[in-house]
Amino acid sequence: MNDGAFLRNLLFVSILLCVHSSAQQTFVGAHGQLKVQGNRIVNKNGQPVTLHGMSMYPWAQQGLQFYNATAIRRLVQEWKCTVIRIPILPNSVSSQTNLVKTVVDACIANGIYAIIDWHSMGNANATNCANFMKSMATQYGNTPNVMYEPWNEPVKENWPTIKSYMETVIAAIRSIDPDNIIICGTPQWDQSPHLAAENPITSSTNIAYTMHFYSATHKQWLRDNTEKALNKGIAIFATEYGLCESTGNGKLDVDETKKYWEFMDANGIGCTNWSVCAISETSAAFNPGTSSTNWTDGNLKPSGRAVKEYIISKYEVPVGVLPGELDRAGHDIGGVMTGFSLMIGAGPANIFTLNGTLISKARGRLPANGLFILKNPEAGTSYRQIITDVR
Ligand code: MG
Repeated sequence: MNDGAFLRNLLFVSILLCVHSSAQQTFVGAHGQLKVQGNRIVNKNGQPVTLHGMSMYPWAQQGLQFYNATAIRRLVQEWKCTVIRIPILPNSVSSQTNLVKTVVDACIANGIYAIIDWHSMGNANATNCANFMKSMATQYGNTPNVMYEPWNEPVKENWPTIKSYMETVIAAIRSIDPDNIIICGTPQWDQSPHLAAENPITSSTNIAYTMHFYSATHKQWLRDNTEKALNKGIAIFATEYGLCESTGNGKLDVDETKKYWEFMDANGIGCTNWSVCAISETSAAFNPGTSSTNWTDGNLKPSGRAVKEYIISKYEVPVGVLPGELDRAGHDIGGVMTGFSLMIGAGPANIFTLNGTLISKARGRLPANGLFILKNPEAGTSYRQIITDVR
């Protein structure tokens, strides 16, 4: 073996070792402690990261039944959720706190982020929320996984009133947890983030703001409000959205939802869909009667089917997990090239997208330097494909 071949083989072996060792890396393991930088949420390396997932449903047993570890594991492994929003009803703290903890613990175990949502509408009580969030911060504030959402949806309250409430809750959280992101509600059911942007919270860092939309009710004006807010420099997270009317029911509007998804993708806005529930409402992901652990795709309602497909399409194995492998539907890879190219090895899948452009595997040489994301557009197929050749 000549020196060149030896070095190439050594590199090849070390690449395979990387493949092996990176297989266990979780989403949170790669991205770590999140923070707010300008109008973006960024990871531990300062790179923007956009989270996609589902919101749980606290209003009835048909939703609360999914507050279990198996359901969360399946939403992570099969739906590719990278965040779960966990609402608790303010009047049900004594009965729902352990359920919330079960879900947070499952998010941590599966290496994704968790948004703890004080699911109040109008007339939220700052003291009660502060006490609850303080207990959550005490339990989870030293993990990178958790984010706090102190007020689901203000209704008639103006921004100064909401801001004062938030400052009270933020002070309580920050007395325990100095850094995890806090996502603040905005006026009129979270439809006015631009009003918060005119007078943002300055008592703490790592503050983001909510925008909630229901596609069959809220149209371009809400994206305009959100764009105004971004342009003023605040970070936005859509902690709740539905493909239907604002009641959570009524007709489905997938076309308008696609406009929102494109808008959020373009602006790095994370989102959690309402909701993980087996009830007759249009917004529910599952048909009534569905098992909370043993469901199949046949149990999905139209909203659940569309959202699952969207979440999978957005999934990327985190930057830095490279070289890697494509081993199952929706399991894509990305990374930063720093000096050499990769060729995609032989396998049953014929095409990939490289930074959004379709390529054939025969032409799968990646750029020598820079950030790239390689995705499998044939989600739903099942195969294992290792990137094998190093040039
Ligand atoms: Mg912390």
